[in-house]
Amino acid sequence: MMRAMTLERPRSPLVLRERPPPAPRPGEILLAVAACGVCRTDLHVVDGELPDPKLPLVPGHEIVGRVAEIGASVAGFALGQRVGVPWLGRTCGICAYCRTGRENLCDTPLFTGYTRDGGYATHVVADANYCFPLPEHGDDAGLAPLLCAGLIGWRSYRMAGEGSALGLYGFGAAAHILAQVAVWQGRRVYAFTRPGDEAAQAFARSLGAAWVGGSDERPPEPLDAAIIFAPVGALVPPALKAVKKGGRVVCGGIHMSDIPSFPYALLWEERHLLSVANLTRADAREFLALAPQAGVRTQVRPYPLTAANEALADLRGGRLQGAAVLVP
Ligand SMILES: [Zn+2]
Ligand SMILES: [Zn+2]
Repeated sequence: MMRAMTLERPRSPLVLRERPPPAPRPGEILLAVAACGVCRTDLHVVDGELPDPKLPLVPGHEIVGRVAEIGASVAGFALGQRVGVPWLGRTCGICAYCRTGRENLCDTPLFTGYTRDGGYATHVVADANYCFPLPEHGDDAGLAPLLCAGLIGWRSYRMAGEGSALGLYGFGAAAHILAQVAVWQGRRVYAFTRPGDEAAQAFARSLGAAWVGGSDERPPEPLDAAIIFAPVGALVPPALKAVKKGGRVVCGGIHMSDIPSFPYALLWEERHLLSVANLTRADAREFLALAPQAGVRTQVRPYPLTAANEALADLRGGRLQGAAVLVP
């Protein structure tokens, strides 16, 4: 039997359900889930902040699993192989965005753990064309956060440009991964946390941040770019204030509280404010190859599958350093 932590309606706790594992249709593979990361986007789905989820829904889009069954017309996967499943579950391949290398903006996509079932379960079916072979080194739980915090973090990081002074607002799962990449590339990382969050600040320092402080503080030098990973629109004006002329502020999350109004002078002098949506498969291939070269080590806290609600509550409450991962 397959066990799954299931969202039956938004703003209610997940409930454990059992049913036979689904059979993969043509083009799909069935995975035995080995680990599934808990992402802030899951909170937005569970809390009803993202519209029209599939219901009932199995959340989770940072999936590491083993191929258990292969559907018709799937090539390139072997039974028992370790693969990763990210947020991007399927794209149409024919819309204007898909045809111009921007499948992250596809007009009719499917998203894992949002509009198709995800990995808070012992089994999951995925479209094979959106799964990624994973190497055998590294443990399952440690790899899981790479599948979203890493991949969408990487897309945000690339959008931030090449500058050497990088601010990270919100030091959670994504920032703890991208800080390691930035330090490896010789950049200076300035980590902004909730004012007074000494645990997060010590964590950022341990990963090589050149400076740590509260989000209400100014960094010791003007930044080339800042990435806002926290879902807090009120961080946009201080981040714009912290970047130099021509600098970039990238909003890396799928959902944010409203951005307060601010003087045009904060944006003037060719500062850029932009958001990042989803990921392309090219982003995934690029980052999954780069992460081991950069020596990225994730810090994870494992939870049993049935403790998914506790993991979500700990993420909501800011009680985690690094990433929560469900291990069925
Ligand atoms: Zn499309
Ligand atoms: Zn995510």
